[in-house]
Amino acid sequence: MRYVIVGAGPAGVVAAETIRKLDADGTITLIGDEPEPPYSRMAIPYYLVGKIGEEGTHLRHDPDHFRNLRIDHVQRRVTRVDPNSNTVVLDDGRHLQYNQLLIATGASPIRPPIPGLDLPGVHTCWTLADARRIAELATPGSHVVLMGAGFVGTIVLEALAMRDVELTVVEMGDRMVPRMMDETAGNMLRNWCEAKGVHVRTGTRITSIHPAGNKEEEDKPGILSRLIDAVTPAGTEDGAKPEDGLRVELSNGETLAAHLVVVSAGVKPNIGFLEGSGLAVDQGILVDDHLRTNHPGIYAAGDVCQGRDIMSREFHVHAIQPTATEHGRVAAYNMTGHEMAFVGSLNMNVLDTLGLISSSFGVWEGKGGQSVRLVDEERWRYLRLEFEEDRLVGAQSVGMTENIGALRGLIQTGVPLGEWKDVLLAQPQRFMEAYVGRIQG
Ligand SMILES: Cc1cc2nc3c(=O)[nH]c(=O)nc-3n(C[C@H](O)[C@H](O)[C@H](O)COP(=O)(O)OP(=O)(O)OC[C@H]3O[C@@H](n4cnc5c(N)ncnc54)[C@H](O)[C@@H]3O)c2cc1C
Repeated sequence: MRYVIVGAGPAGVVAAETIRKLDADGTITLIGDEPEPPYSRMAIPYYLVGKIGEEGTHLRHDPDHFRNLRIDHVQRRVTRVDPNSNTVVLDDGRHLQYNQLLIATGASPIRPPIPGLDLPGVHTCWTLADARRIAELATPGSHVVLMGAGFVGTIVLEALAMRDVELTVVEMGDRMVPRMMDETAGNMLRNWCEAKGVHVRTGTRITSIHPAGNKEEEDKPGILSRLIDAVTPAGTEDGAKPEDGLRVELSNGETLAAHLVVVSAGVKPNIGFLEGSGLAVDQGILVDDHLRTNHPGIYAAGDVCQGRDIMSREFHVHAIQPTATEHGRVAAYNMTGHEMAFVGSLNMNVLDTLGLISSSFGVWEGKGGQSVRLVDEERWRYLRLEFEEDRLVGAQSVGMTENIGALRGLIQTGVPLGEWKDVLLAQPQRFMEAYVGRIQG
């Protein structure tokens, strides 16, 4: 049997290893277009703050790992898939035949059509190559503008802030992490970041980026001095020269000086190379409960596909690593003829932002059922529970460091809460007891 896996991220790697466990004799080719050993994007923030070196980001640390498993790791880009001839075409012209194909090509950062986004000094934070460039530019005291305070943007925010840069975050939504948390939680996070010295602009867009010292600049009397005035003394005192960097224009009329702009404006699945293949796509590749596409013998996994959502039962892209690895595992079982259904993934995000833990699970914004909120802004604590009949369907928390896994457990299992529902409506903080009572009891 010939297995070909396109994409050497967490989904592809777990799939390749699982296939090897289940089929000792098959030929496995793992194709990835990045010039690195397979690595985890999740580890990039740890690399940026110096907690780990580049090797620390690698998914497997033994350099012979894939060779020992007889997994052929090919570092090329797949340009085309032809389901009629069971072939994938590589960017060096090679054609590879498969019996079973997995597409695990992940997602790429969106680059909004904003003038100046292609200037030197403007980077996404998605790949290890991006991280190397950011590490060079985000030096202590430098001025950094981060576009986007979504889930990944807020993770990047923490890494940048820990590099002691002068950081301004610009988010077009009315609050931080608007697709993960409500106004109370998002604004609590914003206040926390500001208390830690990060400047946050919400409800604001970056409208354009310019070289700070270009010709047009000189035609506008006073713009450079305005720019320099706009930066804090820390930036100018330690020798930072905003006039050598970028000028970032915001929709609120502000102008920011920056040595580095980091773009974190969402991601889109990597499906462009599938054009003409006949594979059904929507936001991502469409799959069934076995991660099968509409073509026999072709599967998809991870950020590139729309897998089952455990709560809504609909199919969505859940661009998080635990979903990617579970997709990879389940796809591998099905590719090797071991029937296995994917039970569905939970929409789930947990952040540690400069010491403040926040989380959201399931249908955090609610489905119109009963809900309860506990707000303690002074102590940076927030809890919101959303119910449908006597089940917990969604939750958000800020400042809760213990037992938040119990919220996930209650939502994911969909266990009827019985008498515990009234207890939680009166005292939502007792969710751990409810978990023990209903699941472990
Ligand atoms: C900074 C950062 C922090 C994150 N933190 C978290 C976190 O804390 N928790 C969490 O759950 N998730 C986090 N994520 C998201 C997580 O990294 C992704 O959900 C995960 O990487 C998805 O895995 P994947 O295998 O589907 O795709 P990817 O990891 O993107 O791997 C896909 C691979 O396929 C390659 N590829 C694409 N097209 C082709 C082609 N045509 N031919 C060959 N190869 C191709 C890509 O270059 C890539 O190497 C973070 C992401 C970033 C960027």
